[in-house]
Amino acid sequence: MFRVLRSDWLTQGPTVPKFERRIAELLGSKEVVAVSNATSGLHLSCLALGVSSKDIVWSTAVSFVASANCARYCGAKVDFVDIDPATHNMCAKALQEKLESVKSVVDLPKVVVVVHMAGYPADLLEINQLSRRYGFKVLEDASHAFGSFYRGERVGNCRYSDLTVFSFHPVKSITTAEGGAICTNDPELANRLRSLRSHGINRSAGSSNTRGGDWYYQQEVLGFNYRMSDVHAAIGISQVNRIDKFVKRRKKIAEIYNEGLTSLPISLPVESPDRSSSWHLYIVRLNDRFSAEHHVQIFNKLRACNIGVALHYIPIFLHPFHLNEMARDSCPNSMNYYHSAISLPIFPSLAKFDQDTVIACMNDVIQD
Ligand SMILES: *Cc1c(COP(=O)(O)O)cnc(C)c1O
Repeated sequence: MFRVLRSDWLTQGPTVPKFERRIAELLGSKEVVAVSNATSGLHLSCLALGVSSKDIVWSTAVSFVASANCARYCGAKVDFVDIDPATHNMCAKALQEKLESVKSVVDLPKVVVVVHMAGYPADLLEINQLSRRYGFKVLEDASHAFGSFYRGERVGNCRYSDLTVFSFHPVKSITTAEGGAICTNDPELANRLRSLRSHGINRSAGSSNTRGGDWYYQQEVLGFNYRMSDVHAAIGISQVNRIDKFVKRRKKIAEIYNEGLTSLPISLPVESPDRSSSWHLYIVRLNDRFSAEHHVQIFNKLRACNIGVALHYIPIFLHPFHLNEMARDSCPNSMNYYHSAISLPIFPSLAKFDQDTVIACMNDVIQD
């Protein structure tokens, strides 16, 4: 870290590729492109996959708005597939039905953005099979899922997708202060991402470098300044090595919640032997007998007790910018989620004493 601060390379220098290689080795993807944050990573991913104003991109509404904004930056339309009520991830069956209902090829999605909610991996295998049948690209928004496993392998190896984007924002499982990374096994996509990350400028410029010399550069496409700095990458390298320790700590917190909340009329996060969560979030759902009003009351009571409960997330199609009543009506599970979900505090430094207080308040406030 201090070596980096003393070096000539405060902006993108030799530490960024080192960080990229470290992530590639850990996750098992061929290429990694570090970026300024996950939002810019999702934007570049859509551009690299060729998303334009002629296209439509599908995602789930129970996500951070960035999962949809990436398509809107490219001028594309966005539509939403309903979630699985147990996992809060895209329901592969709902995706299949929506694909089957599409009347004309032009209305098929160019890209499907698959979010691993709370770090619990989505049904990548099934979604990958559908992508082959219908010809769409799969972009994983794995902002929550650094440290998650799917079918015995780390999320980010891109076995079932074209690109996977991670966030290294301070609330996520590892951090670089601000930062993100895109994984892929396609070297051509990686080259496109690297060019777009840095203004669309090519410094080698191949055969068109008629002027010779290493001072030569040319802009080939409209790119951005979405680079990660060496300072951020140095923080990232020390964080990557600790990921499994961080996840273990979060898992322990989740187990204590599972135990302490077991008698309440709520559903707890699901688990499955073929995948494991990074436990970015711990989300419970009030069961059917609670109304939307009850949900708000319980939420406010918990916040009045100083418990940092949150709602991840308000469905994207309800936000004024994205307002889409047709999508809302076709996603009843997403709407139910909105009226029943509560995220409880979970982070590695959460003290046992504080967690006990959360559990006591939950038991107090959600009386059967
Ligand atoms: C945090 C988050 C993002 C954006 O991450 P940044 O690195 O802050 O840009 C995108 N998608 C989801 C699902 C997130 O949780």
